Amino acid sequence: MAYSYEAPVSQTLFDRASLVTPGGVNSPVRAFRAVGGTPRFMVSGTGPYLTDADGREYVDLVCSWGPMILGHAHPEVVAAVQDAVARGTSFGTPGEGEVALAEEIVARIEPVEQVRLVSSGTEATMSAIRLARGFTGRAKVVKFAGCYHGHVDALLAAAGSGVATFGLPDTPGVTGAQAGDTIVLPYNDLEAVRAAFAAQPGEIACVITEASPGNMGVVPPQDGFNAGLKEICAAEGALYISDEVMTGFRTSKAGWYGIDGVRPDLMTFGKVMGGGFPAAAFGGRADVMAHLAPAGPVYQAGTLSGNPVATAAGLAQLRLLDDAAYAKVDAVSAELRSLVGEAFGKAGVAHTVSAASNMFSVFFTEEPVRNYEDAKKQEAFRFTAFFHSMLEQGVYLPPSAFESWFVSTAHDARALERIAAALPAAARAASEATS
Ligand code: PLP
Repeated sequence: MAYSYEAPVSQTLFDRASLVTPGGVNSPVRAFRAVGGTPRFMVSGTGPYLTDADGREYVDLVCSWGPMILGHAHPEVVAAVQDAVARGTSFGTPGEGEVALAEEIVARIEPVEQVRLVSSGTEATMSAIRLARGFTGRAKVVKFAGCYHGHVDALLAAAGSGVATFGLPDTPGVTGAQAGDTIVLPYNDLEAVRAAFAAQPGEIACVITEASPGNMGVVPPQDGFNAGLKEICAAEGALYISDEVMTGFRTSKAGWYGIDGVRPDLMTFGKVMGGGFPAAAFGGRADVMAHLAPAGPVYQAGTLSGNPVATAAGLAQLRLLDDAAYAKVDAVSAELRSLVGEAFGKAGVAHTVSAASNMFSVFFTEEPVRNYEDAKKQEAFRFTAFFHSMLEQGVYLPPSAFESWFVSTAHDARALERIAAALPAAARAASEATS
């Protein structure tokens, strides 16, 4: 497929990158494989805008996949980083910044009694699972198809058919042994969870779920689903792990927990809490966290864990995220959802705008989407045409139909007007698309 707008400088950079980096990128989705075309190499970001290497400005609806909830280069976050950098970038010792960040997390999220800082969401979920296994003395882990928890070996088992499918590795390099203790179930299906526990009594260490999934498009938990998971886990002596890497500090001041109030045993965080730097965390019940080294026997460590620059950025960002900031992000999201819905409505495109707080995505179907199987039934080919029309008109969307869109406090009236102006042509392109 040819695109009318070309990006020669990005293309040159991509060609260079492809020689020295597999696929030309350091994280697969950035390569635009799902939509085709040249990935845009960005050189700067300010507020809601990104500028690429060809000098084109875009309204950014990816926000670095969630972290940039205050927009790019927020002056107070930048100042906190500059201040921290000037004092040294890594000490390999404890420091006050990490204490302050841990205190901020514990103050905001009541079920988190103790927290350990790490450097990525992947590390957070990997460590939480190890801790759950160490705490319970059990091996098996339940996860849901379509939920992404980072590239942890055991959690890359997402495929398989049937109800209580034993994990089959989703990628070469993950052994059967690593995936064999993973049980993959359909999302929003409590009966499947009950059946899995009944089939292997006393063997399941934990159930891990995205608090509200955003990695198969946005598919919120149905009423009672998270509460049901908690109840089943409590009855079976397993831990309920809520992965809030995406939703944490984004969907409300206390993340998704602030919305559904279901109390997890362990939680994982990343993205927003790092203010655009590599900072992430896992935490929860003090009696469980007490099993972590050096307090307890379950080993976990990191050279750059609690890095002073990353913690300064995260803390500055979290301190700016008050009720007014969340009200602003929610309002931007609501307005954008209605603009998107209106444009597709006028163009006659069958669609559903699916939201969880201020996270949302579009499914090209009007059938209900409750899980990954439903999500895959959409007419995803329409997204490709939509995406490229938006890109050409200066709006940067996630390059896949199965990703959440993210907005920030910096998305002002001007940014929304630019999106509104782009939507009708893009919606028409979606309506004219053929598979
Ligand atoms: N968990 C969830 C819910 C995520 O969305 C992601 C990343 O998108 C991760 C874990 C992994 O985080 P990271 O990419 O920082 O390793």
